[in-house]
Amino acid sequence: MLLAYLDPDQRAFLTRIAQAVAAMGGHVYLVGGGVRDLLLAQSQGQTITLSDMDLVLDQVSPDAIGELAQQMSRWRPGALVQPHPKFHTCDLLWPDLALDLALARRETYPHPAANPLVTPADIHQDLHRRDFTINAMALGLHPAGVLLDPFDGQGDLQRKSLRVLHERSFADDPTRLWRGVRYGVRYGLQFAPETVAQWHATLASGVYEYWRQQPGQAPALQTRLRAELHYLWQMAQWVQAGRWLEALGAWACIHPELHWTPALERSLRTASYVLRHHPHRHRCLTELLVSYVPPADRYAVAHCLDLPLAAQKRLAQLEHLETQLPALPALPVSQICQTLEPYEPELLWLALFRQRGNIRNILRNYLQYWSHEHPPLNGKDLRELGYQPGPQFRQILSRLRSAYLDREITDRTEAIAYVQRYFPRVSPGQ
Ligand code: ATP
Repeated sequence: MLLAYLDPDQRAFLTRIAQAVAAMGGHVYLVGGGVRDLLLAQSQGQTITLSDMDLVLDQVSPDAIGELAQQMSRWRPGALVQPHPKFHTCDLLWPDLALDLALARRETYPHPAANPLVTPADIHQDLHRRDFTINAMALGLHPAGVLLDPFDGQGDLQRKSLRVLHERSFADDPTRLWRGVRYGVRYGLQFAPETVAQWHATLASGVYEYWRQQPGQAPALQTRLRAELHYLWQMAQWVQAGRWLEALGAWACIHPELHWTPALERSLRTASYVLRHHPHRHRCLTELLVSYVPPADRYAVAHCLDLPLAAQKRLAQLEHLETQLPALPALPVSQICQTLEPYEPELLWLALFRQRGNIRNILRNYLQYWSHEHPPLNGKDLRELGYQPGPQFRQILSRLRSAYLDREITDRTEAIAYVQRYFPRVSPGQ
């Protein structure tokens, strides 16, 4: 019995859910990744705790979702409950478990890469809408113990094979390839030859290129693809996944000239390390990836992926900034600062991750040190030296800062001497 490989507390929770659904006269199944992971646990003789569960209800009224969600949050308090009545689903989120509750449904795609149209269906049809055979299995909680496996997902798990369910699968939803690569890297699986052939045929048909140019109409090439990129960056083996996607020609879904080159990988590695504790690391990596699209198309691609407006703006400005960078090594520090000051730090970091050698060092010095340096005198000091506040103040402070950055002056005494030399005070009456 597969559930024997599940943590006993989670098993007891599922049993309680099964009893409640039985009392409603319906059926309930664990589906998707939970079944796959239990089969893997069984093959290794291990017990697992799921951090993510997908439950499908069949033969119940749509109200059953809300009722069951309420009961579940009583049995296991502390859930954040997010119902989606229009789709007959409900997400329950505990600190240690994300549970997705849904009515069995069928999905049809009005055109490639669209959001699917959802209609109620039974558990068998529900399994036909899924991505890979290894995720298209359902384990009955009530009726208990039944394993539905219409596409031989168990066989594919044993063969370590990722197989889509039908030949239009990738046209319907290109994000499935990204999902497949994630599973492949995580579990050591390979795409089945016919699945690779289906992917290449879909790519060659030009559907992605066509639908990518219809903003807002192909979420699987836009917002949903962006979400997949974010999952990719969360993987420890994102470099392996990025290379695999390159070998499959998949980056063309974002732009025909985007490739996972050694230069791109190096930039991403640097950024990933520097930003390892940054709360928006994944967003920054996606922005950096898009910066490897030819300059004229960066903004359009960022807009299409629905990156934050600030990121779209940065990507549009990057080319202008980068035309200034080759001149920097020949300039004194004060002029480097004047050149870089008009640009916001996030844009400069983006440029830094793309650069190497001298220019990268200059950008790093600017961002970490020079941009924060203040001259040894401030406005109050100038007043004490007898200067009157006014337009000259700003000029003196700016000259002082330049002199300080260029190490013409290094301390307060030298700064006072500098001011008195270059800005002698005019005594009243002179
Ligand atoms: P993970 O272990 O990464 O959470 P999972 O298989 O549980 O893997 P989810 O993203 O939680 O993945 O999705 C749950 C299930 O929903 C999948 O197993 C799959 O059956 C189905 N599914 C999710 N996304 C798609 C998709 N784009 N196309 C088809 N089926 C999908």
